[in-house]
Amino acid sequence: MSDSPSRDVYFNKKMETLQRDEIAEIQRKQFRSTLIRCLSSSRFYINEFKRMGLRLEDIQSIEDLQKIGFFTTKEDLRLNYPYGMLAVPTEQVAELHATSGTTGSPTLGLHTRKDLEDWAEISARSLSMSGLTPSDVFQITPSFGLFSGGFGFYHGARQVGCTIVPSGAGYSQRQIKLMMDLGTTMIAAIVSYSLRLAEVASDMGVDLKKDTRVRKGVFGSEMWTRETKRRISSIWDMDPFDIYGFTELYGPGVGNDCKVHDGLHIWEDFFLVEVIDPKTGENVGPEEEGELVFTTLQKEAMPLLRYRSRDISKMLDSKGGGRGSCCECGRTHRRFGEIRGRTDDMVKISGVNFWPSQVEEIVLREEELGPEYRIVISRVKSVDRVLIEVESKDKNMLESKRSELAKRLEKEIRNHVLFSPQVAIVEPNSLPRVEVGKARRVIDERNK
Ligand SMILES: [Zn+2]
Repeated sequence: MSDSPSRDVYFNKKMETLQRDEIAEIQRKQFRSTLIRCLSSSRFYINEFKRMGLRLEDIQSIEDLQKIGFFTTKEDLRLNYPYGMLAVPTEQVAELHATSGTTGSPTLGLHTRKDLEDWAEISARSLSMSGLTPSDVFQITPSFGLFSGGFGFYHGARQVGCTIVPSGAGYSQRQIKLMMDLGTTMIAAIVSYSLRLAEVASDMGVDLKKDTRVRKGVFGSEMWTRETKRRISSIWDMDPFDIYGFTELYGPGVGNDCKVHDGLHIWEDFFLVEVIDPKTGENVGPEEEGELVFTTLQKEAMPLLRYRSRDISKMLDSKGGGRGSCCECGRTHRRFGEIRGRTDDMVKISGVNFWPSQVEEIVLREEELGPEYRIVISRVKSVDRVLIEVESKDKNMLESKRSELAKRLEKEIRNHVLFSPQVAIVEPNSLPRVEVGKARRVIDERNK
């Protein structure tokens, strides 16, 4: 790791290293003004409070958060599409983004000019934490458009003051060429796309370590396992960083991991985080795992109270109320652990909860296998069948070797997931690739 950040680069040292009581004071004040904003201007929250028989005076402080008694969900945002969640006049909306929804109305993220400035601030803090400096050439490979990825990195990078290469998504060969021609030093990418780029580079006969100057990277939008991280770091010769965020809360930059790589700092002057049991909706104990729930503290256009992220993780630095939190990197904002799964990605197989990441971790440990895999679930005579297809790296891998590897993986996966998958080692480049957006790992054929 020749050029990984050797010192901590703060974007806004004062805010990133606030005393805990200063953070608490900001949260107290901002929570109050968010509530007032919601109850004076957001049709959705005015109705919800009425429905619950709640008044503003019932919620006096952050400690009363659970008294709100309801959550805001993705479904609420869909039902109130496009402007039902808005808390400012429509003409004050400066920019909007939407999730790559599957069917029906998309979920919007609406921003005023100040919201965009705030987004730039948190994104700049996060990118700086990932090593971005004004002297970098920063290539942004997520798409620019309704997806919040490209613009999230862009807004932050503008603040940092580096050279921006807004290459956007797809055209992988052109991406590699730009990297070489322009001397890109840092990339932003969706996790699986960074592996795809490495594949394309190798097809082009490009050695990313020798032929490019890319030595830093920030990746997000998909869950990634330690094994993926290990692969990215060896392919690119870099110390990869993990960025978090989603469209309903700005986009990338909500949280980021620091050089310690033990969880992601969340900017607590912008968000209140609860962790709940996704089944009961009750808050779990300190540092216990559950679904992350966010309340925005600065958002003007679309403030959110208790928004369910569907991401499973836990808040670290939280014992004793998190009062003494300070990471080795010097930042005082609490961290959450890596995202273990999404309630969305979770599939039930023979009645057992399962996340694709559980398979990924095991598959990527095998050096002879490529990063592409696919999980096909079918139902035969009311029994769930799972086929996991993984590509070999070598086209000429012997049949006997393929079946030996498949058997070993079947056994290992079975030990972890409580069902018996069938594993097939397929030829390199035989599984469909995603050039734009997130990888599609699970094909569920049960309800067809
Ligand atoms: Zn840290």
